[in-house]
Amino acid sequence: MTVMGAGIFGLACAWECVRRGARVQVIERDRIGAGSSGGFVGALAPHVPENWNAKKAFQLDSLLMAGRFWAEIGEVSGTDPGYARSGRLQPVGDQGALALARQRAQWAEELWADKANWQVVPETDFSDWRPLSGTGMLVHDSLTARIHPRKAALALAAAIRANGGCIEEHRSEPPAGIFEKRRNAGVILWATGVQGLADLSADLGRSVGSGVKGQAALLVHDARSLPQIFADGLHIVPHGDGTVAVGSTSEREFGCGSDTDNRLEDLISRARRLCPALADAPVKERWAGIRPRSKTRSPMLGEWPDRPGHFVANGGFKIGYGMAPKVAVVIADLVLEGRDAIPDGFRVQDNL
Ligand SMILES: Cc1cc2nc3c(=O)[nH]c(=O)nc-3n(C[C@H](O)[C@H](O)[C@H](O)COP(=O)(O)OP(=O)(O)OC[C@H]3O[C@@H](n4cnc5c(N)ncnc54)[C@H](O)[C@@H]3O)c2cc1C
Repeated sequence: MTVMGAGIFGLACAWECVRRGARVQVIERDRIGAGSSGGFVGALAPHVPENWNAKKAFQLDSLLMAGRFWAEIGEVSGTDPGYARSGRLQPVGDQGALALARQRAQWAEELWADKANWQVVPETDFSDWRPLSGTGMLVHDSLTARIHPRKAALALAAAIRANGGCIEEHRSEPPAGIFEKRRNAGVILWATGVQGLADLSADLGRSVGSGVKGQAALLVHDARSLPQIFADGLHIVPHGDGTVAVGSTSEREFGCGSDTDNRLEDLISRARRLCPALADAPVKERWAGIRPRSKTRSPMLGEWPDRPGHFVANGGFKIGYGMAPKVAVVIADLVLEGRDAIPDGFRVQDNL
């Protein structure tokens, strides 16, 4: 089996197939994590527990699988992917938001059962590290985790290699006839991110999605054991190495996908206002990438229409890291065992 693209979707699928005994090679046009997977935000955050649907249930499964998934990657690779289920704080701005937050706590009890909780707590439960909150109350959930995306991609690649998989960088064409004598000969999984959306769109003669640029910053501040913060649309994510990631912009129109500009400076200023503990934290790195967004905003998984033996794993958009463990399982089920466990709405055809 050949996997095109060494981003989180390609690497996670390759890993799951290697784990199940398949012979896998990954081909990457540039380098591991060169696309949108090579950043540092890494919020593995649940959808709000309400209006339940297949997408939210799939994501919940994936978030609950993530602890074991990343622990195994850490063990096999000997490299820390930066995973910790450290929870999340969200400010509660006014009385209406407070009533809704309490309602959601009840829904979380039903939907998340005993696996995680969503609590409304006084902000004084958290000393310096907390967002400003209009009501003096915060939502604290125990489901949200963090990963260090760039380190996690490298750890996954090391785990694949340690288990006999091969990864070739700086190459963009699948090899002809490399695994012809083996099972799954000729199977190709395209996990090529925003380039893959363009390729699919060209092949199918209609747009299946496009890229949405995001900019993020990495600050020096040690909050490694503290929950991440989600406030005013910003993710503020403490990592285990004494940095805090702040993201992200969301830009449908853009020129260069890797440049950072004043939009990021505004975002950094907002983060400092929302979370006063970051007021003087120096900026260590600025980064931008292009998220692959399908037309329906859902993941786009399964067979490439009218191309036997070709499969697609794409459309991670803003939650690709959170979705990756479960995406890897359903893709391995389909490609290796012919079992289609992809939820309705997530197949390539559903995005046409
Ligand atoms: C600023 C920002 C913040 C984000 N924050 C979060 C977050 O907090 N939580 C979260 O879960 N997600 C987050 N995301 C989204 C997440 O990063 C993406 O959903 C995910 O990286 C998509 O992974 P991918 O493997 O599909 O694509 P990519 O990572 O883009 O990988 C595709 C790879 O394919 C390669 N390629 C392309 N064409 C070819 C070819 N012909 N042959 C070989 N290789 C090819 C590319 O070089 C690239 O390496 C964020 C994204 C951005 C940009």
